[in-house]
Amino acid sequence: MSLTNTLPIYELGPDFYDEVAAARFPEAILRYRNQAAAKQIGLDNLTAEQWQKHFWAFEAVPENIKTPLALRYHGHQFQTYNPQLGDGRGFLFAQFQTQDRLLDLGTKGSGQTPYSRNGDGRLTLKGAFREILATELLESYGVNTSKTFSVFETGESLERHDEPSPTRAGVLVRLSHSHIRFGTFQRLAFLQQPENIKKLLAYCVKHFYPTLENHQDQEQAALFLQTVSQRLAKLVASWMMAGFVHGVLNTDNMNITGESFDYGPYRFLPTYDPNFTAAYFDHSGLYSFGRQPASVLWNLYQLGGALKVAYPDLPLDELLEGFADDFNYEIHQELLKRLNLRNPMQDPAAIQELNVDLVSHLFQFMEKEKCLFEQTMFDLHSGGIRERLARSPQGELYQKESFAKLKDTLECFEVASEEKAQHAYFKQPKACSLLIDELENIWKPIAENDDWTSFEEKLTEIRSFRGVYS
Ligand code: AMP
Ligand code: MG
Repeated sequence: MSLTNTLPIYELGPDFYDEVAAARFPEAILRYRNQAAAKQIGLDNLTAEQWQKHFWAFEAVPENIKTPLALRYHGHQFQTYNPQLGDGRGFLFAQFQTQDRLLDLGTKGSGQTPYSRNGDGRLTLKGAFREILATELLESYGVNTSKTFSVFETGESLERHDEPSPTRAGVLVRLSHSHIRFGTFQRLAFLQQPENIKKLLAYCVKHFYPTLENHQDQEQAALFLQTVSQRLAKLVASWMMAGFVHGVLNTDNMNITGESFDYGPYRFLPTYDPNFTAAYFDHSGLYSFGRQPASVLWNLYQLGGALKVAYPDLPLDELLEGFADDFNYEIHQELLKRLNLRNPMQDPAAIQELNVDLVSHLFQFMEKEKCLFEQTMFDLHSGGIRERLARSPQGELYQKESFAKLKDTLECFEVASEEKAQHAYFKQPKACSLLIDELENIWKPIAENDDWTSFEEKLTEIRSFRGVYS
């Protein structure tokens, strides 16, 4: 047996993917190379030529996946089942077992596959640019996200109805903790393949949930669903506390590890607004900011429904009834993390009561005064230090009567980390945000003059506070 046969993905076998060839591109202009991510998988020392050979020409990494694999999956798009999905413009390129985690390199925009339908298999450079900034900023805000690993501009031009066209093309590589989607299970349920569902569950348990290995059959499936539910509750809470609207919470965009990925028409909230919607094609607001928890829970039911094809007696309501409590708990944890606060109460009921007060007073204040979302999180870091509130661009809001209750509540908390409270990031008056106008203003000089200066400056700013929210 050759070494490559021992790669995890080959355990699943050919029912789960198709071997595909990468597109050949006319030009290779490196636009982004994530050295920190490369270091995680031991590729940080690649020369520029080697990097291009692997992440533009897609020559196999030694002793890794020999031929790229377009992964098979289905999924619900806006709650309508689509059996024609699958990797239509990407593939699984390589896998790496690090000390504690299995990581995948997958592509976006690397050419057509059997799942491209009418698509060109390509990604716009602007799409790649948006995904870089989303992953970098979410990481800095403490969200469990895939990493953008590499982006090359490819010299092709593309026609798109949602961008001024022709528009430039890019090819992106993503580093991710699994590319198994809810839709990977759903496809097997649709095809009535209970044995393959069991095989996929075994793969997920072995590589992503090893603590479940000493459980069997239905009990293991039940614990798997509950654990995925807990991870997703945490993820969606962290999105909410980052003011993030993913935009396309289809079941093919849900990773079973609870890692956030696939950033298309996402937005960050300007001001707190539950109805804020990111995707221009989301006419009903199904995936609006405030509906994200309900959408994720709906998706968990679809995952559960797929597991039932192999384990018909799974009690889905019972298994997923904890989602709401998990979500509320995680909202508190994520908010305390964002504000660098510690709840000093001893008694569980008192802890809960104070946390609930903090959340409700914060969001009442934000809604009433139409506060800037990220600026408010920034200003109230470590409890809202008086001099910092005074020099905030929205400083006058903290003088208002409507701030009083929140101010009193904040005073009941302790600072969690003095070191974080003193971080240089908080010496500046303005929070690092990424509202749509700013994003467009960073893109403009790239589109018009191929000037990447603002983009590089933004990356530096985003990375300057890495770790403050982790
Ligand atoms: P997404 O909206 O990126 O999550 O993609 C949804 C589905 O459409 C997936 O199966 C993608 O692979 C496919 N897809 C999106 N854009 C393209 C494209 N330009 N060419 C081929 N397939 C695409
Ligand atoms: Mg997708």
